[in-house]
Amino acid sequence: MSLHINTPLIASTSLSARTGREVWLKLDALQPAGSFKIRGVGLACQTYQERGARRFVSSSGGNAGLAVAYAGRQLGVPVTVVVPQTTTERAKSLIAAEGAQVQVHGASWVEANAHAQSLLDAQSAFIHPFDDPLLWQGHASLVDEVAAAGLQPDLIVLSVGGGGLLCGVLAGLARNGWSDIPVLAMETMGADSLAQALATRSHVTLPAIRSIATSLGARQVCRQAFEQSQRLPVRSAVVDDRAAVEAALAFADDHRVIVEPACGAALAAVYQNLAALEAAQRVLVVVCGGVGASHAQLVAWQQSL
Ligand SMILES: *Cc1c(COP(=O)(O)O)cnc(C)c1O
Repeated sequence: MSLHINTPLIASTSLSARTGREVWLKLDALQPAGSFKIRGVGLACQTYQERGARRFVSSSGGNAGLAVAYAGRQLGVPVTVVVPQTTTERAKSLIAAEGAQVQVHGASWVEANAHAQSLLDAQSAFIHPFDDPLLWQGHASLVDEVAAAGLQPDLIVLSVGGGGLLCGVLAGLARNGWSDIPVLAMETMGADSLAQALATRSHVTLPAIRSIATSLGARQVCRQAFEQSQRLPVRSAVVDDRAAVEAALAFADDHRVIVEPACGAALAAVYQNLAALEAAQRVLVVVCGGVGASHAQLVAWQQSL
């Protein structure tokens, strides 16, 4: 039994009319724990439990930490999530509500993560937010569901943070014989670690994250994402925070689902009908979701940008 659900795959009347293309949405915002993360995290947690893990440790105060908390509760395995002092009350309470122990440690993620690593023993498994082949294998189920539904897109649009979702979708395309389908990898300015890596053909680390799309805030993408993106038909595009927030707000009006700006980055590609969509007629957007934004917060961001 998997911990994720087979999410709705719907044609968007509004986005199709707006772009003159067939736009399809894979609604992973509707996953338990609010994002696609449970696909990979669920598989990783189940696998580590089978291998003997009796505790899961995470250092993500975002959707990955929440997915680990959810998975642990479903599997009856205790979870510890170490987060930095900057983590919002909202995030901490969502994680605690899944029964996980939340430990606040350090000024930034670097210190929180170091503390999380120090808690590991032979009985516990560390669940990485994006860099683990088990995660990619789990995320690949998204493509399996699209294929099983009988839809063959000619472009897939998704958001990139550390690149776990990208690696998962590429793995899913490969196992369905679809490796020739291009992927448009979207980031926000200030969190554009993949775009800069591809432009310079080097595995760059950003000096800092300067975007409100915190779920995209990996200073360096995982090596697999960097390497696969050069080998496979992956295009990259970057939008500013304002475009990501406005896409999330327009999506809330059109489809009545709230997503983070991190997901708004992918939606912005279609709301702005970017040139990078090129000749694609049947576009699939991965609506990756995220619990870190309310409608009021999106409006506040829009007004402050
Ligand atoms: C984690 C996350 C991303 C980025 O995923 P990566 O696997 O880190 O590239 C994008 N959007 C949301 C909502 C997320 O939670």
